[in-house]
Amino acid sequence: MKVLVSSCLLGENVRYDGGNSSITTDSSFTFSQKEIFMDVICDNQVYSFCPEVSGGLETPRVVAELISANKPFKVETIEEEDVTIPFLIGAKNALDTCVEEDIKVALLKSKSPSCGNINIYDGTFSNTLIEGQGLTARLLEENGIKVFNETQLEDLIKFIESN
Ligand code: SF4
Repeated sequence: MKVLVSSCLLGENVRYDGGNSSITTDSSFTFSQKEIFMDVICDNQVYSFCPEVSGGLETPRVVAELISANKPFKVETIEEEDVTIPFLIGAKNALDTCVEEDIKVALLKSKSPSCGNINIYDGTFSNTLIEGQGLTARLLEENGIKVFNETQLEDLIKFIESN
């Protein structure tokens, strides 16, 4: 099955801080979880995608949070620069890729203002999580693409096996 995957989860250095969120090197993941991740990667057609880079932002870049997670959306850096447009372009580019390639499921990085599918930071840059979706996760789900994060690998496998 075709799966869109956040580039940072695959070890690409596209995070705002110039690093990555590689599951295989993260000690907070168990050996079993890493095995499941590798199964997903090896048994499926993976499309690596970083919405923020696709939207035109540089790496590294100043950390940003969703100031408004509902319409009208607003994303600002900690330096109060409005970066809403590149975030929206990145989300649209992700959706376009899914439509063009007929991708029905995505594995996206949790908590990100682009990729988070359940929780996001609250816009105060105080490390406070709230319920909500990043702009890419939201746009994909609004268009019928199922989104999982890296803590939902078992659910992702079940989805792949039943589709
Ligand atoms: S936008 Fe998504 S893929 Fe890109 S670094 Fe952030 S979490 Fe990873």
